[in-house]
Order: sequence, then structure tokens, then C-alpha cells
Amino acid sequence: MSDQFIIQDVFKKLEEHYGYFDWWPSHNPFEVMVGAILVQNTNWKNVDKALGNLPQPLNAEAIESIDQEQLAALIRPSGYYNQKAIKLKALLAWFKQYDYDDSRLIPFSVDALRKELLEIKGVGNETADVILTYSLNKPSFVIDAYARRIFERYGLDVPKSYDQFRMLADNAMKHEKHKYDYFHGVLVEHGQQFCNKKPKCDGCPLSDRCRRIGV
Ligand code: SF4
Repeated sequence: MSDQFIIQDVFKKLEEHYGYFDWWPSHNPFEVMVGAILVQNTNWKNVDKALGNLPQPLNAEAIESIDQEQLAALIRPSGYYNQKAIKLKALLAWFKQYDYDDSRLIPFSVDALRKELLEIKGVGNETADVILTYSLNKPSFVIDAYARRIFERYGLDVPKSYDQFRMLADNAMKHEKHKYDYFHGVLVEHGQQFCNKKPKCDGCPLSDRCRRIGV
């Protein structure tokens, strides 16, 4: 099986099994940006608690008016709160250049925006791709631990480098860019339901062709 076939095959089977769903249904692009930072090294339950402590409806001006120490206290439930407050302030400083108006980012290419995001303190590859895909409507393939684990076990020779894996997946799925938000979501869903650290291979929708490498 070619790399391209493996990637397409996995997504085809997952879509058949789980159907299509909205993974990150927030329609507040700024809230998605904040969530992308808060979710680093924690789960969504903790992010939700932290988001609930922030002024509602969440907007950049409101966060700007809160000093860093206070912000850290509010987002405490998400863990690493001092570092995350610094990161949020850095993200805010970047967004301020565009008057906190995501529509001003529309003319930018995905690559140009990705480059800018990666220059922000605390924004790495995965966070940048989450912001691009879910907040700015600029699909960029999101790679995370679930993607790596599922594809490795399935039999793909997964590149170690984030960017090489992202480009490999992008190459295989670019005809369905509008579904990149779903693809990340369905891999997380599958990782949680079946392909966790201790996989439940019985009944797994990928079990017929999965090589179960390392299981
Ligand atoms: S068959 Fe097992 S190892 Fe393969 S994807 Fe399913 S749960 Fe993971």
C-alpha cells in the first residue's frame, strides 16, 4: 500500500464509521484561538473551566484589559497557567496588529499566516495548525499524538518531523481540504474510542487492514 493510499483509506473508513460531525463548533474565532493555547498539555474539560472564568462573550479587548497575573489566575484550571498567560498575551499582541479583526487575515495565504503564527511565543506547529483550521478558516493539516499513533499502528511509515508528516497528509487529502477540521476531530475521536495507548482492536473500523504495529 502506498502512503497516499493508507492515509486515504484510514479517513474513508473513519468517515464511514463515525459519519461527519462538527469537531470544534465555536463560531467565535477569538475563543478558538484562546482555546488552542489553553488546550496545550491538558484536556478540554479543564479548558472549558478556564474559558468559563474569562469575561463573556470572550473578546480580545476584554482579555487585553486583564493584567497577566490576573489572567493566569483565571485560566488556572487549564494548568501551566503562568506560561499560558504569557502565551495568550503574545498571541494578543500579534492579533492587535490586525485590530483584533480576523477578516483582515482573509487575504493572507495559509503559508504566510502559518509563518507569522509560528513566530509567536508559545505557538508551535500543532497550535498554529489548529488556529489556522478552526479559527481562521485556512485549513492546514493538524498533526497530533493520536494521528501519529493511529497511522503508525495502521502501517504508515510516519515521518518523525511534524512538517513532513503534515505535508504527506496534505498531499494525500488536499482534494478534501474543507474537511481538515473533521479529519483532526475524527482521529481524536477514534484515538479515544479505540486506538488509545491500550488499543481496543475488537470492533475497530480499521481492524481489517490495520497492521497493529507495536501493539
Ligand atoms: S485495529 Fe487496533 S491498533 Fe489498529 S487502529 Fe484499530 S485499535 Fe488501533
